Amino acid sequence: MAVWMIHLLRYLVVAGIFYVIYYYWRRSRLASQKIQPRFPKNDDLRREIGYSVATTAIFALVSVALFVTGIRDHNLMYAHWSDYGTAYGLFSFGALVVLHDTYFYWTHRAMHHPRLFKTMHLVHHKSTNPSPWAAYAFHPLEAVVEALIVPIASFILPLHGYTIMAFLVFMMVYNVYGHLGWELFPAHWNRHRLGRWLNTSVNHNQHHQFFRGNYGLYFRFWDEWMDTTRPDYDATFERVTTQSVPQKLDADSASTLQPTH
Ligand SMILES: [Zn+2]
Ligand SMILES: [Zn+2]
Repeated sequence: MAVWMIHLLRYLVVAGIFYVIYYYWRRSRLASQKIQPRFPKNDDLRREIGYSVATTAIFALVSVALFVTGIRDHNLMYAHWSDYGTAYGLFSFGALVVLHDTYFYWTHRAMHHPRLFKTMHLVHHKSTNPSPWAAYAFHPLEAVVEALIVPIASFILPLHGYTIMAFLVFMMVYNVYGHLGWELFPAHWNRHRLGRWLNTSVNHNQHHQFFRGNYGLYFRFWDEWMDTTRPDYDATFERVTTQSVPQKLDADSASTLQPTH
């Protein structure tokens, strides 16, 4: 239960902070810069939160399994930070992020195979216009796949508990950013020689809106190498990050402009 509370609180706090800022506090002021002008309906938010809470329970079960089943006796996790030092601690954090990005890209593409999509991944794609709460909105089977990255990585890289905790916070924040509904990187970031390799909220929002293309998580290397970047990504990024004229809201989004719960 304690481990579950940590996973649950991390989700509620990070997604909650972004939700309050963007969907309440600065909602009207920033409405014209939203990636998709419409706002999600309350039913969408409830579904996103419900599946995400279930995902945190699955993450907790996998975390507990890692610590209590004896897996730790066989993997490369270490208990004393000084055994490898701070330089390695920072390196292993970066390596874990790169490893996860590769793992995510390929498992994500596999789940888009028609044989797996409906069972494992459709739940996540019910959010065609995601909110921060969609960050963990996975079918339980997909949640297991997502949770397995840490146990798998623990057999590839020596990892300290602090490194894993920092990684889980980073993953949560980047995931919430990817589903935010607004772009945080500046205009032309997509053309910057470093920025163009980082995944953006526009990029993942397009994946939710159109289902095809833009499968990456933190980086865009795999999408570029596998030629799966959507051809309209750059144009959409430019439009979203340079638009300042309020967009015409349709009746549906206007009716949800003010929070109703
Ligand atoms: Zn997908
Ligand atoms: Zn998503």
